[in-house]
Amino acid sequence: MFENLSERLGGVFERLTKQGALSADDVRTALREVRTALLEADVSLPVVRDFVKRVEGKATGAAVTKSVTPGQQVVKIVHDEIIAMLSGEGPADALKIDNPPAPILMVGLQGSGKTTTTAKLARRLKEREKKRVLMASLDIYRPAAMEQLAILGTQIGVDTLPIVQGESAVQIAKRAKQQATLGGYDVYLLDTAGRLHIDEVLMGEVQQVRDAVSPRETLLVVDGLTGQVAVEVAQEFEDKVGISGVVLTRMDGDGRGGAALSMRAVTGKPIRFVGLGEKMDALETFEAERIAGRILGMGDIVALVEKAQEVFEKEQAERMMKRFQKGLFNMNDMKSQLEQMLKMGGMQGVMQMMPGMGKMAKQAEEAGFSDRAIRRQIALISAMTKQERAHPEMLQASRKKRIAAGAGLDVAELNRLLKMHRQMADTMKKLGKMGKGGMLKQAMA
Ligand code: GDP
Ligand code: MG
Repeated sequence: MFENLSERLGGVFERLTKQGALSADDVRTALREVRTALLEADVSLPVVRDFVKRVEGKATGAAVTKSVTPGQQVVKIVHDEIIAMLSGEGPADALKIDNPPAPILMVGLQGSGKTTTTAKLARRLKEREKKRVLMASLDIYRPAAMEQLAILGTQIGVDTLPIVQGESAVQIAKRAKQQATLGGYDVYLLDTAGRLHIDEVLMGEVQQVRDAVSPRETLLVVDGLTGQVAVEVAQEFEDKVGISGVVLTRMDGDGRGGAALSMRAVTGKPIRFVGLGEKMDALETFEAERIAGRILGMGDIVALVEKAQEVFEKEQAERMMKRFQKGLFNMNDMKSQLEQMLKMGGMQGVMQMMPGMGKMAKQAEEAGFSDRAIRRQIALISAMTKQERAHPEMLQASRKKRIAAGAGLDVAELNRLLKMHRQMADTMKKLGKMGKGGMLKQAMA
């Protein structure tokens, strides 16, 4: 799967956690990652270039909030910029359909979801806005295309223009306009034919239809899973026909929605709706926040990172508990325990957090539980082979010497560690025997 942008940036920024503002160098480094992430999300190259340039200006010199890392800060700036770019003025789903009958022209490549979206939109206008809707298929090329729309119309209870064989697309459009006027409809939707690629014939036909009915809205339907192609398609339809908005389909799939950003950047036209499935109710108003999160591969960065850590630690604790219940406690277990201790600020850190334990912290340090002592113990365990860690009781003098040398410490210290381990393992064994972990469970809860 895709690597999350915040993860990428986390790596980049590991070295520099405590600075006040983002320097030009930091930002450039981060933006290389942003660039890759956007390309992976299928945002087209020219749009990525442009976008990165804009963010660069905003991010350089920006203050880094104390509670987040510079990486997260950059993600936030990128996130906000994507939203700013995607958000249009006013509600996205407000279609111009006053002055009945209002024609809506649906255009796009073949298979982008035009026919499905036409029916979904008709259903929405009928149910939510109580409009009288008529649909007409202008697809005279694909076999059964007209029947497809008629079947959907029956399903959702919306009228379709009766099919007459042998008419041209423009003739059908004119007949739809006439029928909509005579029949007292509020809106009529024209579902045009598509091609696998943009071509002159298709564009010419769509232009003729446009001139015949003067649509109030021309919606470009684009498959949300297409990346680079989306830009060419949008550009072409905007230049040749002129569009008033975009509908992104297949956003229920696992595409990253980069097409949204590309389309918006290239056409300057708002994304109005997103298709989220094949069913007739799977059409929703476009929300910039959701797409931005999707493009960046994150929900809430901070929450996500914290959650991941929590789960990891919980799993580790559970695995250890199972071992302890069986009375198992080898050197690897001990190493995990020591590492856990370090993470919490060492024995001293843990004790100093508790009232009245300051003195004990000092004693612990003397007894070999200082941070430095713990680090030395971890180094000793790390110098052991897998087998030695599993069976520390088998260690001979020569091996001990090798391990101590490997950690750069002396054998006396290794012996102290081994003794400590023996004591801990004994305790674990006793605890383990006490009623199938009943006591241990309580102790660890
Ligand atoms: P057209 O050639 O542009 O008219 O495309 P169609 O409307 O016939 O759709 C082609 C296929 O895509 C059909 O199988 C639809 O059910 C499917 N489809 C359309 N929109 C969506 C969507 O938002 N999500 C999913 N998963 N499938 C869709
Ligand atoms: Mg169709």
